[in-house]
Amino acid sequence: MEKGWRGLPYHSIAEHYKRIFGEKVYKIPVTVVDDCPNRMGLKGMKTCSFCDVWGSAAREESFQMGLREQIEKYQVQIGEEYNSKKFLVYFQAYTNTFTKVSALRENFDTALSYPFVKGFVVGTRPDCLSPAVLNLWQEYYQKSFVAVELGVQSFFDHHLEFMQRGHTGTDSLKAIDKIANSTAVDLGIHLIIGSPNETEEEIKQQALICNDLPITNVKLHNLHVLTNTELAKWYAEGKFTPIEREQYTERVKLFMSYLHPRIAVHRLAAFASRWDELIAPKWTSDKMGTHQYIVDRFRESKTYQGCCLINQNENDNVLFENMRLRVERI
Ligand code: SF4
Repeated sequence: MEKGWRGLPYHSIAEHYKRIFGEKVYKIPVTVVDDCPNRMGLKGMKTCSFCDVWGSAAREESFQMGLREQIEKYQVQIGEEYNSKKFLVYFQAYTNTFTKVSALRENFDTALSYPFVKGFVVGTRPDCLSPAVLNLWQEYYQKSFVAVELGVQSFFDHHLEFMQRGHTGTDSLKAIDKIANSTAVDLGIHLIIGSPNETEEEIKQQALICNDLPITNVKLHNLHVLTNTELAKWYAEGKFTPIEREQYTERVKLFMSYLHPRIAVHRLAAFASRWDELIAPKWTSDKMGTHQYIVDRFRESKTYQGCCLINQNENDNVLFENMRLRVERI
């Protein structure tokens, strides 16, 4: 099995982290805030149509636990499950810059006080980036690994409106520019595939936009329906139907075909962590099955990350040729 992309037809986030840390590094997802501008209805904003009451938190119980308790408990669980010794604390749920800088500083210091914690990852929105937050990230970047995951979801405004994000694609581009110009943090974005009326051209353009951005990674989600969300209401009314696994896989293949190999990919689909809250599509609950299904379709069709970019840039040709050879050997 070819070692370059760990036998996968794409550049995985595990490989990205391994290059930085020299070994496997796993994220400890934690919850330290319980709100966001959307949920508060700031400037007339609404809760994102796909977001449930847990605000993307990995575990409900984390809301009742302090930061230290979460880090210590999940480090043991994740360490045993994956045999990992190095960790990143992932401030995941809700909008993690929607709080006081002093509180952020305290949380970062707490996370970094553990010898097994090698840095942290902050999840946030494009419209919650004050100069003070950017300065703080850059300050911690001088002494630790700092990554930011920005909820972009789409660069197309009609999809953002459907998701009720409360920001535009231009807002995201400006935010990415601002972060890259003010800090050196490891920057990634989240994108959602499966909005109504999504076209192949849009999928392709999203990848090409990513290629031109100062980001190192992308996380893909499929738009799925959870209980107690606006999307659940629309689903019940017949106004929204999630795409099937086959259709989703074709869109992921298209996106990845145009995504430059320098950009690492976290995962190929969203996986519902609370199965009882998943309404549709059911395939979203089959984490390993879905991953394998998508990877198998990549292999069958000899698709790999960046395969449609070949020859578009002379300087990239050697890189792409190596990638192609790897995939052929798998
Ligand atoms: S997805 Fe994020 S910004 Fe949107 S409502 Fe949920 S927590 Fe708030």
